[in-house]
Amino acid sequence: MDFSVENKAYTAQRVFCIGCNYVAHIEELNNDMPDSPVIFMKPATSLVSSDAKTVDYPNVCNDLHFETELVVLIGKEGVPSDEDDAKNFIAGLTVGLDLTMRDVQTGLREKALSWEKCKAFDQSAPIGKFAAFDPACDLKNIKFSGSVNGELRQSGDSGLMIYPITCIIKELSKFWKLLPGDLIYTGTPEGVGPLQRGDNIEITDPQGKSYSWKIV
Ligand code: ZN
Repeated sequence: MDFSVENKAYTAQRVFCIGCNYVAHIEELNNDMPDSPVIFMKPATSLVSSDAKTVDYPNVCNDLHFETELVVLIGKEGVPSDEDDAKNFIAGLTVGLDLTMRDVQTGLREKALSWEKCKAFDQSAPIGKFAAFDPACDLKNIKFSGSVNGELRQSGDSGLMIYPITCIIKELSKFWKLLPGDLIYTGTPEGVGPLQRGDNIEITDPQGKSYSWKIV
């Protein structure tokens, strides 16, 4: 998928995701607190544009959950020297959905197996449009939200992240040299829940722009 931010074009090739990044969400799922950022990936082919009207409910799942997340677009190649420098790699921000087959994930967790089936399936990553990143923006005070059928279900505040955005970027860069077009889903706050066919899910970015999809 291609993105354009301030007349610069980016092609998403890698979608990094952070798990277990908010205390209240870890508690609602009875998960353990991580001792370093939990990182997993989705293929770029799992992205769904905000221009698409629908998302398919996967046939192999009976408990599809929404997770509303702040998403970072990386704008340049390299490895940040430290967390302060990590800020210089951000080109844009938006919101996205880390759709999760919770029933499949529970089975995988019990056997300590990897998460691709429950997290990296087709259409598992609907995403909004990126707004250019303002370097003056306080990365620890960014708000976003998610609603189902008009009812507010998740209110996100980046100030509540266990691992702040710059820490996540620095940590990722220890394993992968950053590339323009890299996306980072930064984890979900509490309030996740199931979706049904026919539901309308709407997510709102830090600037108040909303994106919605119907689950079919
Ligand atoms: Zn997530």
